[in-house]
Amino acid sequence: MMQERFSGSFTQQEPIPEAGIEAAIAVLRHGRLHRYNTAPGETAQTVLLEQEFAALTGAKYALAVASGGYAMGCALRALQVRPGEPVLTNAFTLAPVPGAIAAAGGRPVFIETTQDLTLDFDHMAQMARSTGARILMLSHMRGHLCDMEALSALCAALGVTIVEDCAHTMGASWRGTASGRYGRIGCYSMQTYKHINSGEGGFLISDDAELMARAVLLSGSYMLYAKHTAAPPPQVFEAIRLDVPNVSGRMDNLRAAILRPQLLELSQRVARWAALYGALETGLQDTLGLRLIPRPDEEVFVGSSFQFQLNGWSKPRIGAFLTRTMARGVELKWFGADAPVAFTSRYDHWRYADPAPLPQTDRILSGLIDMRVPLTFCVEDCQQIARIIRAEVLAVGQGPEPEAAALPVIQ
Ligand SMILES: *Cc1c(COP(=O)(O)O)cnc(C)c1O
Repeated sequence: MMQERFSGSFTQQEPIPEAGIEAAIAVLRHGRLHRYNTAPGETAQTVLLEQEFAALTGAKYALAVASGGYAMGCALRALQVRPGEPVLTNAFTLAPVPGAIAAAGGRPVFIETTQDLTLDFDHMAQMARSTGARILMLSHMRGHLCDMEALSALCAALGVTIVEDCAHTMGASWRGTASGRYGRIGCYSMQTYKHINSGEGGFLISDDAELMARAVLLSGSYMLYAKHTAAPPPQVFEAIRLDVPNVSGRMDNLRAAILRPQLLELSQRVARWAALYGALETGLQDTLGLRLIPRPDEEVFVGSSFQFQLNGWSKPRIGAFLTRTMARGVELKWFGADAPVAFTSRYDHWRYADPAPLPQTDRILSGLIDMRVPLTFCVEDCQQIARIIRAEVLAVGQGPEPEAAALPVIQ
């Protein structure tokens, strides 16, 4: 029998909604792309977007910026991170997270990962005490939320302020509270592969007036901060406006116009992702050698990516598995590779941060496989992908030890 092969693209996102295309063309026609360039009586697209995102998350204040990485760096600067200050963060995360800490002058201190891909609380508490860190940049990597109530209580006891990296959790929640609302500041990304797409873009949300005033000034508001409506009142700015540097990273009206109609679609997208994720999970249930990541009942997650573990598999065996799935059109990523590949890298590759070895994380990442789930896939696509993965896990997992081979090239 001919083996089935998947023919879809793992990197193809959906087009921008027609309403977004029309709104973008309107901005291009009038030419006022800069957020502070408005006609008399006009409210900028960027300002409207901020109002709408604050309303969606229930935050008092929202600020739209140039990228998710910028949002995180801005949050840390607003918290006045000092040069060389330790900032706790997940060892299992993406390169822009330690990058934002380093760019703000901080020193990333990596925390171990649990088997279920969340922050290890015991290690976090230990490192908070030993380094005296006062900030945790909590990365909800690949959308896996830790117990946010337990973490909030622990951080309160340790005197640690939480900043949430919600790049993979826009639209997610823990016990009914939106991801990004447990921390002092929540940061989001609107980069193409996230949950709404303007190519590049980011948000910060917070209820803290002084922090948000700092963030707005940092983002490059000049003395035009009063044009922000999802921001604290002008008197909060007046006290600090000459003390905060301008580190330009604004959102523009073109990208805001593209994003506003997508925000309206977010809850539908979350539901569509749940169906795709569910099809993958069902198709891979009870596959010998493969561990699925359990998802707690308290968590509403966004299934925009899918992870599983091949625990105890040797590197050549995982390499053979990746080569064979790739040959059948299924593009998987691996967190155990010796060298970084495309978007995928690991804490010990970030040499500038001088990472201490983390044996538990090493063990977990060595068997961790990751897959994008774009919304251009349908449920049948995910069922087919699951069949292919399952067949190859069984074939390679039960087969003889393969020889070491080059890994497939992925983008
Ligand atoms: C994408 C991403 C970011 C940063 O987003 P950019 O908008 O690309 O700067 C931060 N954290 C995680 C986990 C991400 O995947």
